[in-house]
Amino acid sequence: MADEFGSKQNTIDSSKLFNIRVWEGIQYKFAKDLGIAIKVMSEDGKINTPESNFSDFYRLLTSTEEGRKICEVTPDSIEKDVRFVSLYADCVYYCATTYFYGKKFNILVGIRERKYDEKMVKDLSVKAGLDYTELLEAYKTQTVFPEEKITNIADLIVDLFNIVIELSVQEYITHMANKEKEEEIAKMSALMEASIIINSTRNLDQLLKIIMQSAEKVMQAEASSVFLIDSEKNELFFEIATGPKEEEVKKIRLKMGEGIAGWVAYTGESLLVPDVSKDPRFARRVDEQTMFITKSVICVPLKVRNQTIGVVQVLNKIGGGNFSKTEIKFLEALASQAAIAIENANLYEHLEERAEQLNKELKTANLDLGIEKLRIESMVQSMEDAVVAVNKDKKIVMVNRVAERIFSIDGGAAEGKALDDVIMTKDIVDNFTMVLLTKNINKTEVKFQLGNKEHIFAAVIAPIIDEKSEAAGSVAVFRDITEIKELDKMKSEFLNMVSHELRTPLTPIQAYSELMMIRNVDNEKVKKYANIINKETQRLGALIGDLLDLSRIDAGKGLSLTLEPVDMNELMNTVYETFRNASVKHKIILTLPEKSEIIMVDKNKMIQVMTNLLSNALKYSPEGGDIEIRTWTDKEIFYGSVKDSGLGIAVEDLEKIFDKFYRVESEKVKKIGGTGIGLPIVKYILELHNGGVDVKSEMDKGSEFIFHIPIVRPS
Ligand code: ADP
Repeated sequence: MADEFGSKQNTIDSSKLFNIRVWEGIQYKFAKDLGIAIKVMSEDGKINTPESNFSDFYRLLTSTEEGRKICEVTPDSIEKDVRFVSLYADCVYYCATTYFYGKKFNILVGIRERKYDEKMVKDLSVKAGLDYTELLEAYKTQTVFPEEKITNIADLIVDLFNIVIELSVQEYITHMANKEKEEEIAKMSALMEASIIINSTRNLDQLLKIIMQSAEKVMQAEASSVFLIDSEKNELFFEIATGPKEEEVKKIRLKMGEGIAGWVAYTGESLLVPDVSKDPRFARRVDEQTMFITKSVICVPLKVRNQTIGVVQVLNKIGGGNFSKTEIKFLEALASQAAIAIENANLYEHLEERAEQLNKELKTANLDLGIEKLRIESMVQSMEDAVVAVNKDKKIVMVNRVAERIFSIDGGAAEGKALDDVIMTKDIVDNFTMVLLTKNINKTEVKFQLGNKEHIFAAVIAPIIDEKSEAAGSVAVFRDITEIKELDKMKSEFLNMVSHELRTPLTPIQAYSELMMIRNVDNEKVKKYANIINKETQRLGALIGDLLDLSRIDAGKGLSLTLEPVDMNELMNTVYETFRNASVKHKIILTLPEKSEIIMVDKNKMIQVMTNLLSNALKYSPEGGDIEIRTWTDKEIFYGSVKDSGLGIAVEDLEKIFDKFYRVESEKVKKIGGTGIGLPIVKYILELHNGGVDVKSEMDKGSEFIFHIPIVRPS
């Protein structure tokens, strides 16, 4: 096709192509009226106007055959990038340049200066076979223009030339385009009739390619492309690309709105960009990926029934000229052809396979539905929440395993039964009724007995709305929130306890400090009161310390250890001294090995362990009695024990007392204040030392807490 087109173009007479005769008429008139010489020639020499020159000198010189030859201008007589050209007899012409459709034109406008040189004229007269004196006289009469004037006139003539040639070229292009279009359309319909094109997309490709090649040839473009819109991804992809980078270009996708093509696809309006480097819409990345250099673009939308389905674009005028506005129209005409072709191809192609495909789709749809049903069923079955679905008559259509368990029903047997025959909780049945009536989602909490414990469930009952917006049934999901509720309860109890615990030591502190302030108390009493205040402050400090530790552990930050060599006998003595006089009802007995161990521990944290264990021993032996502190070493393990003869702990509570906030639920323990965070912190600190804690206890006899840490000696 390209060859066919190309060879056709070569047979066109170039003067016809540019309708140069129109110009020649204007050139003649201008030269005559302004008294100047004008000549136009294309760089390749194919388009050449005869010089319009009305000076006596020129007339005389061209009156002979030889003289005409001397005056003949060839492309070689014009040196590249030279503004002034000496043509013959030192007549200097100004050379203005313009481009058209890939062709460079030199427009010579003269004459600027006259050098009076007898020898030169003499030589000329000999060469042209003319009388010297006559030629010299004629030479002297030539009009001479100053440089500025001649350049101004030259600019004017170039403008004029552009206008005239543009019009004639447009006319030519439209003519050619129409001709080509007619040919293409004829070809297309012939092809379509023969059902070749419509049977495969490859032929659509071919067809589009033909269209684009036509555009390229007629518009003298370096490359062209057709993009189609992928509406799912909101992207443009290359359906067809011609030109040197065809393969690279086809791999690229553009976002809707990206680049000039994206802009045209988005707005549905044609666009001519004479210089892409100055247009912010241009997507440079495409050039970077393809190594093609885009300079100018015409891009028009590809519309099917007023909807933009893609864009067509042509790039770069061969030879660096500009695309014209008329060419937009031409490309639009081609685009409409391409759109028709695409639509036709799609239509036929799809029609042919439609029935079969529909059939296939139906089968897969059925299959998919089956799979989907199974999938949903197994999903519902494996849910941890209970699911119950009823139809609009409140007959059960589905229950999952959890629902079967919590409502004590058998799934198979329940299906088809009335809801109130299966679920005995009136609240739930009422809520179902309400949802079916109001078609509104119902969210509520329901309580019912499970085993021997009352459970709380968060229930969400939603209507199933059919296509007529009627309630076809409803589905309920029940989530067991008993534990969450218990945790909530525990939290608020904990807060109550903590505030109580914080207030307890504050009362004596406040009371005794006030006493000291308002009364004249003797030294002895001051000492006593200060002692009490000090003790209570310590208690408060320890409690706050525990709370802070706990919140650090809870926040996942944990506690960090500051290990140092600690003499364990010394540490135990310190703790003992603090607690020795804490209670009159108790006797604290400290038994230490003769030889103390010096090991790497966090001193303050170990004091905290001992403090917590000792406070518990004191607290939970309200009747008083002995409290024994012992330490010993066995196989490189350090052991410590705090033993009381108090309330003791029931077997079922032994494991739980190390849990956060856990407090034994007995009346006796409740009377004694506490927060349930002392032991968890003890355990945490010991585990940080790679050790642990155990408890032995007997109800009403007492408890012994034994901790152990591996011995790490200072190096
Ligand atoms: P708190 O003492 O503040 O309640 P703990 O974590 O220190 O918190 O103790 C948790 C629970 O373990 C206490 O509530 C108590 O029931 C039990 N407990 C701890 N130490 C003893 C002990 N020496 N004798 C009896 N019960 C104890």
